[in-house]
Amino acid sequence: MTNRLAPLAVLTIVISAMSAHAQAPAADAILVNGKIITVDDASSIVQAMAIRDGKVLAVGSNEDIRKRADGRTTVVDLGGRTVVPGLMDSHIHALRAGLTYSVELSWIGVPSLAKGLDLIREAARTSPPDAWIKIGGGWTELQFPEKRGPTIEELIAAAPNRPVYVQRLYNTAWITPAGVKLMKLMADTEIPGGKAEKDAGSNLTGVFTGVNRTFNFFTAKIPGPSFSDQVAGTQKYFRELNRLGMTAVNDFPGGGMFPQDFRAIQTLWSRGEMTLRVAFHISSNSQHTLEDFKSLTLFTPMNFGDDMLRYRGIGESLTQGIYDGSTVGLPYNPSAKDWEEFCTVAKWAADHGITVHQHAASDRAAAQILDCFEAVNKEIPITSLRWQIAHIENASDETLRRMKALNMGWAVQDRLVYSGQIVTKVLGPEASRRAPPIKTALKMGLHVAAGTDSDQVAPYNPFVSIRWLLDGKVIDGTPMRGPEESPSREEALRMYSLDAAWFTFDEAKRGSLEAGKYADLAVLSEDYMTVPVEKVSELHAVLTMVGGRAVYGEGPFATLEAGGSRRAD
Ligand SMILES: [Zn+2]
Repeated sequence: MTNRLAPLAVLTIVISAMSAHAQAPAADAILVNGKIITVDDASSIVQAMAIRDGKVLAVGSNEDIRKRADGRTTVVDLGGRTVVPGLMDSHIHALRAGLTYSVELSWIGVPSLAKGLDLIREAARTSPPDAWIKIGGGWTELQFPEKRGPTIEELIAAAPNRPVYVQRLYNTAWITPAGVKLMKLMADTEIPGGKAEKDAGSNLTGVFTGVNRTFNFFTAKIPGPSFSDQVAGTQKYFRELNRLGMTAVNDFPGGGMFPQDFRAIQTLWSRGEMTLRVAFHISSNSQHTLEDFKSLTLFTPMNFGDDMLRYRGIGESLTQGIYDGSTVGLPYNPSAKDWEEFCTVAKWAADHGITVHQHAASDRAAAQILDCFEAVNKEIPITSLRWQIAHIENASDETLRRMKALNMGWAVQDRLVYSGQIVTKVLGPEASRRAPPIKTALKMGLHVAAGTDSDQVAPYNPFVSIRWLLDGKVIDGTPMRGPEESPSREEALRMYSLDAAWFTFDEAKRGSLEAGKYADLAVLSEDYMTVPVEKVSELHAVLTMVGGRAVYGEGPFATLEAGGSRRAD
């Protein structure tokens, strides 16, 4: 009996195994022959990945993953290239940058002043004769071999009789005479928070210095792009971020952004044309922030939206009164009333379960902010709300410990790539070696995520930021942060992917390449793990996927971009 039954039993097992295999869904696409850095708990590196319905179906060896394919599966041969989880900037002003991207010039990443002036000459030739030519921050003279900004004469020569506005970071603006006239600026015009340079005859020279509100004052006088330019610019800017391997942003509106400025992104969202996941926040540009927040949030309850566009809280300033400037070392003396106002908003946010992301350039501001957050936490626990502080380039261990105790996040950006020299003067060489103290924070187990704070104080390129995370050098190569406070390549990548996803409560959905998570990924031009550190800033994506759809492809992957969109439609 036993002998006759045995083959039958074996047959049954074989049949059930076969039917199980037949029922297992085949992949929509498989990526094979790669070096896939998964950023899972074990930091696994695998050869291949299967994707189905926009999500990772499985990762593993070429052999295992090929079994997931059938005749309809798209097979992508990675040719040995490195794949990383899609990058996410944890503190960026991308929505603001997108609005003007199709109509404004940019000196971000421009290698010389001569080249910058060429761009202005070109714009003068190709744009309507009355239109402004505007460069809105995002550059420093340190990126130029000339080691200086433009002169007014050079701007006039590049664009004769044209209104030209060139802003450097948040510290200087050059405005040509035609621009000064259009802005109706006089020698006695009051410049908010700033100063006009004057010649011996007390006439305006066209050079202005100041702080954020100074430049908001000027840019408000320059007509903005049309609505269709805003939509086109946003789309173009997102594609540029996709080209750099980015698939998500944690976005903050910043100065000059008002509710109507969200219409461009809402339009792209409603058309299903977003190629970047956006967590957006609400801020107030008025003196009545609590009233603003109360009314604005009536229409956007916490987490409202979907996985492409979602509301994730308020920031990056709860109130204007305690803002400590764009960099460490600026004058800063908020009153007791300013702090009371700030803490009232913080308490209201806690009471309504709202996540707060707060700016603090300096440790001094951060320490006082934490005094308030700790007091709020005693009444209304905030430890599950993932409150965050951005920047703090000179964070003390004590500040980081206090943040850890509140289960907060620290958003670190490569702002010092541009402003390192200024900050080194303020902090001195010793303290600059730990600006910012990334390794100390990681060892404490604090949630630390990376980013850029682009568009006006740093370039948006994530690989420029990652290079800075790794070697701590400012843009002209001057060493600043020491290796003892610098993360490893794997840690830096994690700060730009999985740890960034934690900031928007998305770490279970994306940020690493594991079964069940969104297939948000970037295939890189070179191997991130082994390329010399100074070459990290030159990396870019050759294929970027958001939810398994190719949103950027070049070279052998160019055809996937078009095919990917068709399938998603
Ligand atoms: Zn900020």
